Amino acid sequence: MDKYLKTDQWKIIEEGFDPERQRSSESIFSIGNGHMGQRANFEEQYSGDSLQGSYIGGIYYPDPTKVGWWKNGYPDYFAKVLNSVNWIGIDVYVNGEQLDLAECTVTDFTRTLDMKQGLLQRSFIAELSNGNKVAVEACRFVSMERTEVGVIEYNIKALNFSGTVTFTPYINGEVYNEDANYDEIFWEEVTQDSFDDGGIVTTQTKKLDFHVSAAMKNDVQINGKTLDIDTAASVSSMYAEQSYEVEVSENNEVQFHKYAVVASSLNHDRKRLHDHTKESVADVASVGFDQLKGEHIDRWHTIWEGSDVHIEGDDEAQQGIRFNIFQLYQTYTGEDERLNIGPKGFTGEKYGGCTYWDTEAYCLPFYLNTAPDKVARQLLWYRYRHLPKAIENAEKLGFTDGAALYPMVTMNGEECHNEWEITFEEVHRNGAIAYAIYNYIRHTGDDSYLKEAGLEVLIAISRFWSQRFNFSEKRQQYVMLGVTGPNEYENNINNNWYTSYIACWCMRYTMEAIEKVREEAPEQFEEIQQKTSYNDAETERWKDILERVYLGEDEDLGIFLQQDNYLDKVQRTASELDKSERPINQYWSWDRILRSCYIKQGDVVQGLYFFEDHFDEDTIRRNFDFYEPRTLHESSLSPCIHAIIASKLDYNDKAYQLYLRTARLDLDDYNKEVHQGLHITSMAGTWMSIVEGFAGKRAKDGKLYFNPSLPDEWDAYSFKILLNGNRLNIRVEPGQVTVRCEKGSESTVNIYGDEYTVSPKNKAVISSPELH
Ligand code: BGC
Repeated sequence: MDKYLKTDQWKIIEEGFDPERQRSSESIFSIGNGHMGQRANFEEQYSGDSLQGSYIGGIYYPDPTKVGWWKNGYPDYFAKVLNSVNWIGIDVYVNGEQLDLAECTVTDFTRTLDMKQGLLQRSFIAELSNGNKVAVEACRFVSMERTEVGVIEYNIKALNFSGTVTFTPYINGEVYNEDANYDEIFWEEVTQDSFDDGGIVTTQTKKLDFHVSAAMKNDVQINGKTLDIDTAASVSSMYAEQSYEVEVSENNEVQFHKYAVVASSLNHDRKRLHDHTKESVADVASVGFDQLKGEHIDRWHTIWEGSDVHIEGDDEAQQGIRFNIFQLYQTYTGEDERLNIGPKGFTGEKYGGCTYWDTEAYCLPFYLNTAPDKVARQLLWYRYRHLPKAIENAEKLGFTDGAALYPMVTMNGEECHNEWEITFEEVHRNGAIAYAIYNYIRHTGDDSYLKEAGLEVLIAISRFWSQRFNFSEKRQQYVMLGVTGPNEYENNINNNWYTSYIACWCMRYTMEAIEKVREEAPEQFEEIQQKTSYNDAETERWKDILERVYLGEDEDLGIFLQQDNYLDKVQRTASELDKSERPINQYWSWDRILRSCYIKQGDVVQGLYFFEDHFDEDTIRRNFDFYEPRTLHESSLSPCIHAIIASKLDYNDKAYQLYLRTARLDLDDYNKEVHQGLHITSMAGTWMSIVEGFAGKRAKDGKLYFNPSLPDEWDAYSFKILLNGNRLNIRVEPGQVTVRCEKGSESTVNIYGDEYTVSPKNKAVISSPELH
């Protein structure tokens, strides 16, 4: 754990510059707009340790797989989100000496992420080795309103000298990924040029032919007056710069603006890309900094109106949840059907910016509740479009007859993970993709997706499961061998309870869905039947599996068995581990991890979360009591699920402790890896911990149910839910729950088992003496 940030309800604040923490802060202070994003790298030169990161959604590189012993079935490549063109760079020289925070004395350093307004700000005083002192204030944002636009304001005050301050803004397309299997540069030159107060660079990826064009336009003012000075342009391969030499006297303030447009062939014809980018940056610059900033802030205002969670009496928890919501909306807004939510979003290279099961299992509920329904639908359609590839993936592994195995890691539907042993065998991901369809329907009550597309996905997934189980003559039961469950501290295990259970649920749900669509939409059903060659006879095997499946249980302990032989392991709890050994994946050999009983993230408990209403409370309690103490929560996806179940079981202290861990996982760097980027997908789990955990929200047939509790540490909290176009605000305080309809018409909610109808004119106030 590393606590170095100041607590504030709406801001993340770092005071004092510590080069050792630069990578961590670069991750935490990242900014993005759902289409592109940028780590908090400095604008000016920085020769210290840093991970440069400028990412554009959907622009990736298929880096050829590198392994010692190639095995059939390995994906050909691992897709990587690319560190793309550097559009933020502004070299600064003070009387000829370059400003570089690694080389000068820095005081009064403050870096702030203003989450309410979506701004990254920085201020500091630097004394260069020539004795000149400057005060710098910088502000940058990636526009939420204009998705190709990034803007920087960079102010310098000459504190103790007269002379020249030179600004050299540039666009640099010659950039590298740290994570490159063969250390190659992924980009090559197309064109570069300079123009009045600006420059433009177009590059293309060496494979897949993505083109990216970035252009800048700049202006400079002194003491508030715009300067018309001669600039010196310089252009070379993949690079364009302009230099502005400004004469200053002591105490003069120079204000520099850099407007950038970053556009790509994903959205523009390659032939028009260069012209589009150049024209667009001129328009943007003419709008000016203040207006661009104003419209960007307005957008954030609207996002917060629909998604804010307000916690009273606990600023750390408040800061944590807002940080999570902020980062989620910086990563995904649902506007582009081709994009998804990478585990690190636009904040680092790890996980390659690819799509994981995280989207369906964790992110979907967040967007389902805080954004219009179309955003969650977009996530469902994304997988539908990948269905043919999922069928191909399964075929490559020897499955037949239209069985689909969705990839664990993907950019375009193809499997592209880079580690066979763990990731590949996590076939449970197929289950989460089916579950998302069910989750969407139970929340919205809208089953049109099922009829239009979802049923095809379900049939293909169930076909996979039916082939993945095999009948064991010895047991006279169906078993599922050689899988990895969500707990990645095991692999190639047999009869992972979670995987087998969700597989069975999928087959059952698919059969119900088939009957529903057949009855309610016979024409659509016929179409699906033709497309998939579905035949009722195939469900005979599904039914047989459901009747004769082996799902491990230990009768003495009254628990589900995570996998065969789990209880043969030496049983220890997390509390027996020394702090210096945590996280164990950084200190223990992999061999030792695989042999131990320690669980990385919820496995059985993940299943209890998904299928809570299949089990009585005692069963859930016994399993939680057994597995949670053995769980290290060393995946960011773990604490939130446990927090929700702990709340259900009235383990309030535990729930709160787990909540803090999920909410402040990155801010306090619990897993000692924030330097690699943020845990974006688990941030949705933080939101779930409050809404599904403390407030006990559940959904069924388009209706919402709440069973709120109030953590001791909080005075009150409130959150928003979007339901079929209505926006509800639910406030929980000592003694009562208040439900308001902030927008829309009438809706009905169930609180502690009773129904209430609310409308903009009619709130519901439910008194509950137990809330204190
Ligand atoms: C987790 C997986 C997850 C992946 C990406 C891993 O550490 O164990 O469940 O899909 O991270 O977030």
